[in-house]
Amino acid sequence: MPATYRDALRAALLYLLLSIVWLELSGYLLNSIFDSSDEQLRWQLISGYVWVVLSAGLIFLARARLFRCLGIGAKLRARDEDQVRLRQAAAVFDCTREGVLVTDNEGLIVHVNRAFMEITGYQHDEVLGQRPSLFKSGRHSTAFYQSMFTTLGSTGEWSGEIWNRRKNGEIYPQWQTIRIIHDDEGRRSHYVAVFTDISAIKNSEHELMHLAHHDPLTDLPNRLLFTDRAEQALASAQNHKRGCALLLIDLDHFKMINDSLGHTIGDQLLKAVAERLKAMFGPGITLARLGGDEFAVLAENCPQLVQAAALAQRIIDGLKEAFPIEGHQLFINTSIGISLFPADALSAEQLLRNADSALSKAKNTGRNGYALYTEELTAHAQQRVETAFELRRALEQQELRVHYQPVHDLKTRRLIGVEALVRWEHPQRGLISPAEFIPIAERTGLIAEIDAWVMHQSCLQMCQWQRAGVALSFVAVNVSSRLFARRELYQQVAQVLRETGLDPAYLELEVTESAVMDDPEVALEQMHRLRELGVRLAIDDFGTGYSSLLRLKRLPVQKLKIDQGFVAGLPCDDDDVAIVRVIIALAQSMGMQVHAEGIEQAEQARFLLEHACDLGQGYWFGRPVPAEQLDWMHAPIIEKPPQTL
Ligand code: C2E
Ligand code: MG
Ligand code: MG
Repeated sequence: MPATYRDALRAALLYLLLSIVWLELSGYLLNSIFDSSDEQLRWQLISGYVWVVLSAGLIFLARARLFRCLGIGAKLRARDEDQVRLRQAAAVFDCTREGVLVTDNEGLIVHVNRAFMEITGYQHDEVLGQRPSLFKSGRHSTAFYQSMFTTLGSTGEWSGEIWNRRKNGEIYPQWQTIRIIHDDEGRRSHYVAVFTDISAIKNSEHELMHLAHHDPLTDLPNRLLFTDRAEQALASAQNHKRGCALLLIDLDHFKMINDSLGHTIGDQLLKAVAERLKAMFGPGITLARLGGDEFAVLAENCPQLVQAAALAQRIIDGLKEAFPIEGHQLFINTSIGISLFPADALSAEQLLRNADSALSKAKNTGRNGYALYTEELTAHAQQRVETAFELRRALEQQELRVHYQPVHDLKTRRLIGVEALVRWEHPQRGLISPAEFIPIAERTGLIAEIDAWVMHQSCLQMCQWQRAGVALSFVAVNVSSRLFARRELYQQVAQVLRETGLDPAYLELEVTESAVMDDPEVALEQMHRLRELGVRLAIDDFGTGYSSLLRLKRLPVQKLKIDQGFVAGLPCDDDDVAIVRVIIALAQSMGMQVHAEGIEQAEQARFLLEHACDLGQGYWFGRPVPAEQLDWMHAPIIEKPPQTL
């Protein structure tokens, strides 16, 4: 038996004993005092009574000892202290600015405080008995909650940032601490969550971040953010093998505006410039103000220098229009320096430095223009940009022409068809070859319009010849590889045939070998659709691409055109001879016609005829000329070609 229990037992027995003795003695003495008549006896009795009272004191002492042994006194004191503490805790619980939520072991809410109600907008009775998942914002993954409960389980506590939802649906961030409460037996009894609403802190954090990364006047990204974004864009461009362009824009003579009209107007102008620039760009372009009158643009998908130059020109033209500010009509010119990734530099810092030196170049060469980091490229790009702009105008002002080059049957030497070749009759530069402007048209997207126009003109012309009794087997039209991959081609051809009324059997579409082999599956589908329209198909510049013979066999094509590069070496160059022979044999084995282009000499024509090439085209037969200049003397009347392959 433990010592404390032994002590308690002894104290209890003593207490019991003394109490009985005391009660007995008290009763006896009191009776004796009242019954006695003798004075001496009475005094004896009174002193006996005093003793009894003293013994009562002893009994009380024994009782106190007993209580102490049993811990009753401490317990009572502790209960009193607990009650005081509870009252204090309840006051703290209610006055604290942190929200407090208590759940039982099952996770059901058993208590919330006043701050909880203020922060969440829920009242007591709306949440008691519910689960805290009621406040879930949907912003965290299941993995987040899993890791939270794992930490809670292993350490008994979790603290962190969590997004929850108020009663009004608003999502807000909290800093929350959750703790597990155990009962006296060490069993998990409750969970207590204490949280603070940190949306205000978050907002000011966000504001601070914004201030640190943006220019306060225009609200555009500043140099810090721009460099950061540029680094990210370059990393992504490197992964995806894309080109980027960095343009530094500087307003010419801006200082004059500041000096003459004051800084307030200068600031307003800068704001207006920023707004106009912002409106010019879509996604994939980052605009920033680096300071003063200097802006920067990062174009993320700008593989060609001509595109960067076109963008620069667009900016220069866009800023040319007047800025109406406080009754003034302000005009500004712009100078731009361009640096390209990866051609000129690989890091954002270096690109900025290069663009800066290009900008100095642009300023030194008379301002209001752009310069590329590499000088030779500037002139080249400028010319191409000018051509692109002019080409658009050329289409509108009908400066394009179609010339027709005769195609002869090598056996009969008779003209049996024509190839339509586009030319540009430039008001100053004269006739421009398609080799110069077709690549630019392809890059700027104008090619679709050009090809549609040439096709339309050629079909109209063919109808006109047919009405005049000229019997040609076909008019061949070139289709750009850019267009060939697109679904619209089919609709475009169908529309031209419908509008012009030409029998489709007389229209031949030439597609280059590389266009077909770029994406053979798409090409195959496209060709089948076009064949359904009834038009003929030819592969142009054959021998320059990397045709797979297996794929070639599957194509619904009627003709192979031997590239003029191989014809040029005939009949002396052994390699050319071998290649031409193979192409002819290949075409024949696949049931296709063979057509040689670029025939400039009689020996070439003879060689081709001897090797059973079907058709010939080249300066020896006739150059491309306007329709009215074609020599019809050699045009025989040929029946409509068969439609089968
Ligand atoms: P292509 O389709 O292979 O056209 C043949 C080119 O060879 C033409 O050049 C033609 O004038 C030239 N040529 C013809 N015979 C001879 C010759 O005996 N010797 C030499 N050296 N050249 C000869 P052109 O007209 O300058 O056209 C060049 C290329 O431009 C064409 O090559 C074609 O790929 C493209 N092209 C022309 N017109 C159009 C068009 O309307 N649309 C599209 N997308 N491309 C076109
Ligand atoms: Mg051609
Ligand atoms: Mg060709």
